[in-house]
Amino acid sequence: MPKVKIATEWLAGCAGCHMSLLDLDEELVKVLEAVEITSSPITDLKHPPEVTVGIIEGAVANTANVAVLKEMREKCQILLALGDCACFGGIVTMRNLVPKEEALRTGYVDTPSTVDGAVPSDPELAQLLDRVQAPNEVVKVDAYLPGCPPSAAAIGWAIQELLAGRIPAPVGEHLRYD
Ligand code: SF4
Repeated sequence: MPKVKIATEWLAGCAGCHMSLLDLDEELVKVLEAVEITSSPITDLKHPPEVTVGIIEGAVANTANVAVLKEMREKCQILLALGDCACFGGIVTMRNLVPKEEALRTGYVDTPSTVDGAVPSDPELAQLLDRVQAPNEVVKVDAYLPGCPPSAAAIGWAIQELLAGRIPAPVGEHLRYD
């Protein structure tokens, strides 16, 4: 039986959700009998191939995140938002408490560790959005698994639900906040 192809992408957030995915350990070995992970943040594949399930982690903070997310939507039959940041923006939306220009000035000009005291202006660099958005503000998302980060067990459960052709509907036992 052909394996179900899964791609994962990491938008704006921390590595917590991805580390939790990797924490599947032996469960991951079982999962890999049924799925092929075609791309992930650690494979450095710039463009994911067409897959059945796309797992997105993190919120949408800049133009590069928008491009990656739209490409994931085009290439994935089902898009799963993994973790609070991907579900509703999570902690990344704290940046929305200050205007973008103030956030850039704080990060690049007023910070002692800054290199040259200027906001980078290279047009090749991704540009910050005016406000951080949840992925579902940019594209249609099919399934959600909140948590910060979701537990490995909950991620395994969600993947099994998807493999069974069901959209995961998490309940209390699937939610974790560390
Ligand atoms: Fe990190 Fe939590 Fe956001 Fe996941 S949901 S990317 S663990 S801050």
